[in-house]
Amino acid sequence: MNETMLRVGNAEIPAPTHISLYGTVPDSIVDGPGLRYAVFVQGCSHGCPGCHNPDSQPVEGGTVTAISDLLADIEANGLVRNVTLSGGEPFEQPAACAVLARELKRRGYGVWSYSGYLYDDLAKRTATARAERDRRAEAGLEDAAQVEGLERDLAIGALLDNLDVLVDGPFVESRKSLELKWCGSSNQRLIDVPATRRTGSVVLWQPTTFDLEKPSNW
Ligand code: SF4
Repeated sequence: MNETMLRVGNAEIPAPTHISLYGTVPDSIVDGPGLRYAVFVQGCSHGCPGCHNPDSQPVEGGTVTAISDLLADIEANGLVRNVTLSGGEPFEQPAACAVLARELKRRGYGVWSYSGYLYDDLAKRTATARAERDRRAEAGLEDAAQVEGLERDLAIGALLDNLDVLVDGPFVESRKSLELKWCGSSNQRLIDVPATRRTGSVVLWQPTTFDLEKPSNW
């Protein structure tokens, strides 16, 4: 992995080489279907009461890790083909998480992410940033993506571009349920990101089902 830029639509922004981690779990069975490598990033501004990982909320205190080392650790686990980004808030390190997700997709991994933000707000931020970046490029401003906040919102789009499923929305304690699969409270949605981006409206992810039938000659 030696690319120094991250492509976002027709724009490019610098690609970080490091990510701040709260921790990793190489064999999670609770962060999405099947066996997964879970990456918990450091830092989250949502402050949900009842947060499952309060120590992951401060921006400071994470373990700054080379994304290439993290990828090598994931690849060293031959049983895992799916990775989940959680936290902390992956969309508050969007460029680093986008680089990680892009490299994972290139290697054929499935990638899920959790976020305390709503998909609709993330999509609106990235659409606004892309329009602003295009406007600045058309106006001949060389630093078309180099504006406070613009790079970050472009990176949000790059992260969305490399996700299979986004579990969105904050954890709401009054809507907590232990019956729910892969989310903590009933306001959270499991979103099929490629289908949602294709159609322009939120498509909920449906788990693959297998209907096993006995052969007729049994
Ligand atoms: S979004 Fe997640 S990590 Fe952040 S405060 Fe809420 S529950 Fe905790």
